[in-house]
Parts: sequence; C-alpha cells; structure tokens
Amino acid sequence: MTSTPQRDTATHCPYCAFQCGMRLSGPREAAVVDGDEAFPVNKGALCIKGWTSAAPLAHPDRLLSPLVRNGAGELVPSTWDEALDRMVEAFRSARTDYGADAVGIFGGGSLTNEKAYLLGKFARVALGTANIDYNGRFCMSSAAAASIRALGIDRGLPFPLEDIVGAEVVLLAGSNVAETMPPIMQYFEAQHASGGVLVVSDPRRTATAAAADLHLRLTPGTDAVLANGLLHLLIRDNLIDHDYIRERTEGFERVRQIAATYWPERVERITGIPEAELLQTARLLGRAKTAMILTGRGAEQQAQGVTNVLSCIKLALALGKVGRPNSGYGCLTGQGNGQGGREHGQKADQLPGYRLIADPAARQHVAAVWDFPEEELPGPGKSAYELLDSLGPEGGIRSLLVLGSNVMVSAPHGNNIRERLEALDFLAVSDFFLSETALLADVVLPSAQWAEEEGTMTNLEGRVIRRRRAYDPPEGVLTDLELLERLAARLGRERWFTYTGPEAVFEELRAASAGGVADYSGITYEKIETGQGVFWPCPSVDHPGTPRLFAESFPTSSGRARFHPVLHRSPAEEPDEDFPLYLTTGRVLAQYQSGTQTRRIAELEGMASEPLAEINPTTAERYGLSDGDMLTLETRRGAARVRARLTEAIRPDTVFTPFHWPNEQSANLLTNPALDPTSRMPEFKVCAVRIVKE
Ligand code: SF4
Repeated sequence: MTSTPQRDTATHCPYCAFQCGMRLSGPREAAVVDGDEAFPVNKGALCIKGWTSAAPLAHPDRLLSPLVRNGAGELVPSTWDEALDRMVEAFRSARTDYGADAVGIFGGGSLTNEKAYLLGKFARVALGTANIDYNGRFCMSSAAAASIRALGIDRGLPFPLEDIVGAEVVLLAGSNVAETMPPIMQYFEAQHASGGVLVVSDPRRTATAAAADLHLRLTPGTDAVLANGLLHLLIRDNLIDHDYIRERTEGFERVRQIAATYWPERVERITGIPEAELLQTARLLGRAKTAMILTGRGAEQQAQGVTNVLSCIKLALALGKVGRPNSGYGCLTGQGNGQGGREHGQKADQLPGYRLIADPAARQHVAAVWDFPEEELPGPGKSAYELLDSLGPEGGIRSLLVLGSNVMVSAPHGNNIRERLEALDFLAVSDFFLSETALLADVVLPSAQWAEEEGTMTNLEGRVIRRRRAYDPPEGVLTDLELLERLAARLGRERWFTYTGPEAVFEELRAASAGGVADYSGITYEKIETGQGVFWPCPSVDHPGTPRLFAESFPTSSGRARFHPVLHRSPAEEPDEDFPLYLTTGRVLAQYQSGTQTRRIAELEGMASEPLAEINPTTAERYGLSDGDMLTLETRRGAARVRARLTEAIRPDTVFTPFHWPNEQSANLLTNPALDPTSRMPEFKVCAVRIVKE
C-alpha cells in the first residue's frame, strides 16, 4: 500500500460525535495527526483515540481486496466483479423466492451523511426492501423519540456547546464524557471556573462523576424515579416557573399529579440517593437562573429509555429553561455521525430530512426528488434488533448487507446474534478490517477509511461539517458510495445511482431534505467551508443556520412543548436469588465501540487490552475475589470471561464491564435485548448477573 505525502488536510476525527477538528499530514504509512486549533468545538484538543486515529490507515490487517467464501468454507481473495456478482445473485434470488423484504440492510452511525442517505435510497429504490436499520438505534433512539414527542424535533443538543459555560447548574444524567469524549471537559471546566455547578447521576463513580460537585449514585434503571423525585421537590418548594409552564407548554397538570407520588422517602428507597442529596440537587436547579439537563446512554439505553428522557425533559420544562440562554435539555450523541446518521433515511421508518416513510406527503416529496414512483417505495421496516432477530428462514430475512457495523460485538444478546447471522443464506459485510461480523460473511468488501473519502458529518450540536480526503483509497479499495453505485448498476437501477462524487450525493440530499424537519437545503460544501460548519435547520442558501432552537416556540402543532405523564417501570430484569447483582455496560477511554479499529492500535491496547469488570471490594470479598482475578459473568443469555478490578467506584450491588471486546470477553453475550416500546432501544444498561469465580 503506497501513497504520496499529502498536503496538510483539515478534517475530523473518525470516532465520536464530538468530531474534533484535526489536521493530517505526511504519507499514509506515517500520517501525523494534530489538533486543529481553528475548529471552534475542540479548539485543538484531542483525546488519545484522536491522536492515534491515523494508525489504521496503513495497518497490516487492512483489507485490500474483496474476499469470497469458497467451496471449502474459507474466505479467499477475489475480484470486485466476482464479489459484486455474488451479491447481486444472492439479493435477486432472495427477492424472487421470498419477496423484496427478504433482503436486509444494516447501516451505521459512523457513516457520512452522504453514505447514510444513499444507503437508505439503495434499500428502497435498488432493492425495494423495507428492512433497513442501523446501529444508531442502539445509541440515540430513546433520546430522539422523547425529544420529538416533547419538543417536536430531535437535534441532540439544541444549542452550541459553548452555552454550557454559562450554565449555573448542569445535571448530567448517565454520561461519562470525561472518558468517552474528553475534550468536552474544557466546557465543564470553564463552567466550573465561572462558579457553575456540575451534578452527575450515575451508578458508577466515573471520571466524570469524580469531577462533579455532586455525584448522585443511583441504582441502575431508576433514572425516571430520580427525575420525578426532583420534580416533586421543585413543585413542593415552589421552584418551578409558572409563567413559562402556562405560556410555553401543555399537559403539566397530569404531570404534577404523577410527581406528587414521588415523595422523597420513596425516591430515596428506589434510587438509593439520600434525601439530602435530592433536596440539594432540586434547590441547585430550582434557584439557578440558567440550568441544563443533559442525558447520555446511561439513562437512554434502557427498556424505559424514552420514559427516562421524557422525565428529564419535563424537569427542564418545569424549570422554564428550554429555549432560554445557557439552559435547556440536550442529549450527548455518541457515535461519530450519530446525529446525521439518524436524519436521512437509514432508519426503518424514515426518509431523508427526518421525514416519516409512512407519511404520504413525505413519500411524495422524496419520490419526486428521486424521480421514482411513490407507490413503489416500501413502508416502514423492522428496528435494528428486530431486524437482526429476523435473520434466517424463521424471521424471513434471507440475505443481509452490513455497512460500517460490527453487530457481533455491538448488538445485545450476542449468542442469538451469532445464531441469526449463521442462519442467513447470504451475508455481505463492507469494512476495512476483518471484523467479527465480517468473519461470518460470504462476501467481504474492502472499504475506504475516513481519511480517504469526502463527505459531511453532523456533530452532537447539529453542526454539519466537512470530512475531507487526505489520501486516495489504496488500490483495490472502494468508497461505500462507489460500492452502492456499482451494486445498483448491476441490479438494473443505474439511472437512480449515477453521481459525479460525494458532493453530488449531498446536492440531492439537500433537495430531499428541503422542507423536512432536518432541513439541509441551504447547506453547501462551500458554506460549511467558510463557516466552520452550519447548524441545521438551514432552509435556504442565504439562511445562516440555526445554532439555537426553541427561543420563540416549539415545532409542535400548538407551538408549545408537551409534558408527558410517564410513570417509571422496573427494568425488564432485576436481580434475584439466581442472578443477584445488576450488570451495567459501557465504554472506556482507550477503546471505541466494537473495537474493530482501536483494538488494532498498539498504544490503545497498551492502555486497555481486555475488559475489566468493576466490582466493589465488599462484593468481591463475598465471592473470595482479589483484584486481577479472572472470573465469569453469567446472565440468562450467556457468559463472559473478564478480569476483576476491585474499586469503590461501583456500587456493591452492581458490576460494570465495558463492551469493546469480542468472543468470550464480549459483554454483549450478557446483555438483555428487552426493547423500549417506542424507540426499540435494547436494555444495554441493566440486567441481572452472577459472578462465578474461576
Ligand atoms: Fe475527539 Fe471523540 Fe475523536 Fe476523542 S474520539 S479525539 S473526543 S472526536
């Protein structure tokens, strides 16, 4: 693999939704990364994942030609023609024998907007299948569904990050940003330096909780109880904003009645948070002129994730803070393009611009942009876990294309996922390494990496930014846009998939999103270039973009925000005699998601080479465990071997283990696929577990 030295290229980190600005220089084999001080979000700061992000570009494991499975069951190098022919044959025969919905597509939250958009179009126009969804369903869907229901729109942060600095109080519910996106801490540090207070609710004393002024160490799965309990105290002590509630919201009365049932003693009993801390938090929030409530995956990745987020939003509404300066509710998106990836059509129920595929007007608009018969567009398909659970003869999806996702490691109930993938007639995976999912494939397609493609990403603030190409892809490697175009041509759909490059795809995305909730029609590559990004919605080329939402009204039918009277439920699975502890899962600083990239980077492996199960010393004593012992975690779905890390940071009734590792170390062999009824988010964050000492 060779490449000539490139000029200094300003682009963005391939990993999380903070999308740090960085500069790449030098040849691919020795690419040098530097933080981009001109980019106003990270201001030059990067975390260790960003600093080492160029290492996979010339990694020896990199796939440089397609692979196909031969008669002996081995994956062997092949040509693009053979790989694409096999795919087309498999898709055609599934469609002929079982119908169009027998072909599934599984996308990813790290794909550029252009790729996510084209993948959605490919599913509907080239394959005619309803069954497309993506791994962002496992990340953002609860916050998205709750925000739409309460505020009328889902944009993770409805304000720029800089607004955090001026917030007197921030309540961060279930987010460990100090490890998952460390450069964001500069905003919390500046907030602290200005006299602001940070409160973190989390079952673990994470690095973020340790940096907070107050840590509410709640029982896993009780986030909605905490929010309702705080609302109870705010109402009781008359710390709510009556004028705001009257003028800008609807539905408060029923919420007030529900909050009355969350008296402090009850909330303390369920959450484990002392009444004094509840009162302290309520007073901090209620007396602050500016206050924010932010949620992360801890509160969202539950079978009641939507309820948890709605409860946090109603707290922010009752305080009268949503749409006010340095205040409001926001969700901290996780995956690199977790925001843009959920806006333009790779979700089962969605068309570009955050339109709903079941909405006749939305279908007409998009069909007209695509010049495609509206009646041939399929309807809504299955959500991510349900799609994966439907693979094989029983569920009816016989062929699957996976793009930019490693579901063998990242999806819940890993034993079931393996069985389902193995039950397929045909599996194709596009990736740049032989991921655990690719290892099961019939065809593997080598794809270009982040620094080898052009496109746009949308960061956690809703700021649309440019990903720029520093290197051409290695010989034999295609971008996913090129892959989709070639596949569509072989499927006889060339007419709808002929573009001159990523910008041409973006131009079509602009038209398809025009008038939609996520309106990108006024955003151009040039405008992003000159403005360090553009915040959507941006409905015309002379529109400056919308950094802050809700100042005047909410995009609901009444223009008001909606309180939702939701009661908490218990987690789908709680500790009992057989499985006496809670299990919660998450990320660590030196690894990212399924680890396909980061587990191949020596510096990161040096920092975190295996999953460490955090266990409280008093719990460890009961099991006769010492720090560093190997143990097996068992749930009703599977077992994982991990090493014990004894720490007071975790509650005695809870075990934490990260999910970045595969095979017998995979935390997702343990997790519960119980789904939120609205968002279809699996319950990654709570299940019942037992420890077996080796
Ligand atoms: Fe920035 Fe996230 Fe990349 Fe770290 S992983 S450098 S926080 S974008």
